[in-house]
Amino acid sequence: MKHRLMDIQLILTRSGLLLAVYFVIVGVPLALASWGESWLRVLLGERWWLVPVGLSTALATAGPFIYAALRRRADRMLLHELAKKELQVTFDSLTGLLGRSAFLHQARQALVMDQGGGQPSCFLMIDLDWFKQVNDTHGHLVGDVVLQRVAVRLAAELRQRDLLGRFGGEEFVCFLPTTTREQGQAIAEHLRELIASEPIRRSDVAVHQTLSIGLACAPEDGTTLETLIERADTALYAAKRAGRDRVVVTDSTNGSPLP
Ligand code: GH3
Ligand code: MG
Ligand code: MG
Repeated sequence: MKHRLMDIQLILTRSGLLLAVYFVIVGVPLALASWGESWLRVLLGERWWLVPVGLSTALATAGPFIYAALRRRADRMLLHELAKKELQVTFDSLTGLLGRSAFLHQARQALVMDQGGGQPSCFLMIDLDWFKQVNDTHGHLVGDVVLQRVAVRLAAELRQRDLLGRFGGEEFVCFLPTTTREQGQAIAEHLRELIASEPIRRSDVAVHQTLSIGLACAPEDGTTLETLIERADTALYAAKRAGRDRVVVTDSTNGSPLP
């Protein structure tokens, strides 16, 4: 759909340019012939028509080159616009992580690859604890910095093939391809400890942020991303109920979080 709109925009822009160039090529000599005849006659006598005809020939010769140059410029601007929109859609503007829909798209593809290759995968639902209090105590700007720093710290710990996204608000999501439940749990614990172990500082403010994490794994907990999200979400709420700052793993035997 996006590309079809772009195609339509491209066609409209090119048609508009073509019309404009054509209008100049035909219009300028005609205008000169009809409105400039009297003073051209004064200047050149009976040969006054040589000017509009000469101009018409010159413009008709230069026209295709002018059109090609303008078209190249318009195409470049449209491509630049498209790339900018693509970036805005793919990445979260605050944290630079994958945005929700780009994450879901890429995680779904990675899950299908793992399933096809008989590999396990893990999904983490990560939520910042008591984050409303951070905003209420230190202000939203500090809250934003905390979100950014958490994102940077988490991203730095992950492998290149792992996916990290901002699901919304103060929730992050992480997809770990080719990862067993034990490995996933170890990674989740590591991420939790990493954030809890060092306060996030900004000027004279130090925020002791913690994370609650719900973990679900394929194929035991489900083989679709939707099921994994649902299970990890349930595990996350169990982590919140149990006191926060912890990882809860979904129990593969009945789909409920392990106590
Ligand atoms: P819990 O431990 O139960 O998760 O408590 P919480 O306070 O983290 O959760 P709650 O859902 O009550 O509050 C989430 C807060 O996150 C409220 C909202 O203002 C804040 N928030 C969401 N997005 C942003 C953002 O982009 N920047 C900032 N500064 N705050 C945000
Ligand atoms: Mg939340
Ligand atoms: Mg929260």
